[in-house]
Amino acid sequence: MIQPLRLRRYLVHYSSYNTPQIFTDVLLIGSGVAALATLLELPDDVSALVVTKGDLCSGSTPDAQGGVAAAIDPTDSPDDHFADTVEVGCGLCDEDAVRVVTGEAPERIDALIGRGVEFDRRGSDYALTREGGHSRARILHANGDATGRAIEDVLVARAGERPRTNVLEQTFALDLLTLDSACHGALVWNRDRGLMMVRAKVTVLAAGGCGRVYRETTNPPVVTGDGLAMAMRAGAAMQDLEFMQFHPTVLYVAGASRALMSESVRGEGGLLVNREGERFMLRYHDAAELAPRDVVSRSIIAEMRRTQHTSVYLDMRSMSADFLETRFPTITALCRRFGLEPSEDLIPVRPAAHYMVGGVRTDLEGRTTIGNLLACGEVACTGLHGANRLGSNSLLEGLVFGRRCARTAARALADMPEPLAVHAMQGLPEEPTYGRLNIEDVRNSLRSTMWRNAGVLRSQESLDEALEMITFWCRYIMDKEFETPAGWELQNMLAVARLITTSARQREESRGVHYRSDFPETDPSWRRHIVIANTGEAWL
Ligand SMILES: Cc1cc2nc3c(=O)[nH]c(=O)nc-3n(C[C@H](O)[C@H](O)[C@H](O)COP(=O)(O)OP(=O)(O)OC[C@H]3O[C@@H](n4cnc5c(N)ncnc54)[C@H](O)[C@@H]3O)c2cc1C
Repeated sequence: MIQPLRLRRYLVHYSSYNTPQIFTDVLLIGSGVAALATLLELPDDVSALVVTKGDLCSGSTPDAQGGVAAAIDPTDSPDDHFADTVEVGCGLCDEDAVRVVTGEAPERIDALIGRGVEFDRRGSDYALTREGGHSRARILHANGDATGRAIEDVLVARAGERPRTNVLEQTFALDLLTLDSACHGALVWNRDRGLMMVRAKVTVLAAGGCGRVYRETTNPPVVTGDGLAMAMRAGAAMQDLEFMQFHPTVLYVAGASRALMSESVRGEGGLLVNREGERFMLRYHDAAELAPRDVVSRSIIAEMRRTQHTSVYLDMRSMSADFLETRFPTITALCRRFGLEPSEDLIPVRPAAHYMVGGVRTDLEGRTTIGNLLACGEVACTGLHGANRLGSNSLLEGLVFGRRCARTAARALADMPEPLAVHAMQGLPEEPTYGRLNIEDVRNSLRSTMWRNAGVLRSQESLDEALEMITFWCRYIMDKEFETPAGWELQNMLAVARLITTSARQREESRGVHYRSDFPETDPSWRRHIVIANTGEAWL
């Protein structure tokens, strides 16, 4: 029996009397596509503060390779994009959210082009590629496979030109400040200035996903689930956290960070073969290499087990070196760094945690269940993806809901008073016990446990074991007070790991990216969402 845990409201003590305060109309937590898309759609007279825990470009957005999906081809339509998204979402998509995103996609692409993003062209038309789950080619890309970098660079440049905008890098948001079920900003810690209270009329949480909770992941180091954990502590409703999407093809070479081999490689004709050189995906799904990601990930794991090998291989040998250099410059350069020539060699790949489908529950306007707190991007759960994300829909989701959050914020600001310098909010009442432990060691153990027990394949037994370990770590780590981001990140990762594991344990079926080896079938009675909210007394 796993004991429920009490979740502390704030990670650190602070006194609102002597903590420096900054005032702004809108606080944006994060600096990826979601935060910057929101920022750039705010009216110019609105003051905005962007806080981001690393450098401006350290989130997942600049790493996005494949591209952005949108029905821009005259022979394509938002209805077809809608149908593909719903099909891949396995019965759990919020169809209104899908309608909004697929319908607004072409207009968001035009806006990006207007801001200066140059998507690749084939002749006078945009070069569109196809990815798994899409019934046709509809993915726009830029600089070959460096789409996210192209988008982030342009958004950062435009953000620098926006009036009334301040940016604080190396600034870790610890907790949302709440009073009477409304959010009034956040408690942040800047590397040079220490703790500060940011008092905002509207707060937009855009802090990305939580891939680093897993040992094998494509996500950069900042993606530790802080946004999810702080929203949970503040009492926001969280939804669909059992749905972690695993990217099927991540480079598996000792010493290489887990860099992904974009799905569009398979879209352009790349094949998957096992250690015996056999093209195995034909045995698992009619769409073979272009089957939905969850199917490809599970098939690879099954094939690795069957052949007792640590990876399978991506075969790009049908593509010339010239083509690969132009179409996949990042991937080609990466392979060459490890002595692999993609036009001649088989590339070892295996799955890794990639995208958190669930998150802070929001409505179609980006509103969470906490007043004046909006959320968008990977941290949010709009219902677009259902139980599985269709490739290249997440940059798009950030663009569409970023704009919607900006609109909601502008409306809310219109009839809001200036924020008061209230001194009612405070941290923990008890005396803190300061954290002195090997944070790195627990962090590595947690990530390995999540990979082994709550990864591509899960079962009651593996999830129980994970929960037992996480609960044990929580007992002596959650009540400590740390003074640096490493400790706060560990506390956030533990909270998120517990959320994922508890949700995965509850869902006794297999659906989308959630695969239970003890419940391998989809159960129609489970066509519903798991929503968790922290009541303050006990959680999970
Ligand atoms: C390798 C890779 C390839 C991908 N390829 C594609 C693709 O081709 N197409 C597609 O649609 N999607 C792709 N995705 C997914 C997509 O990139 C992300 O879902 C999307 O960029 C998320 O945007 P975001 O703005 O929500 O978060 P991010 O871009 O991750 O930004 C989150 C921001 O929050 C900040 N932050 C986090 N915690 C805190 C804190 N405590 N305090 C302050 N700041 C904080 C981070 O520093 C960061 O700036 C890919 C993802 C990866 C990892």
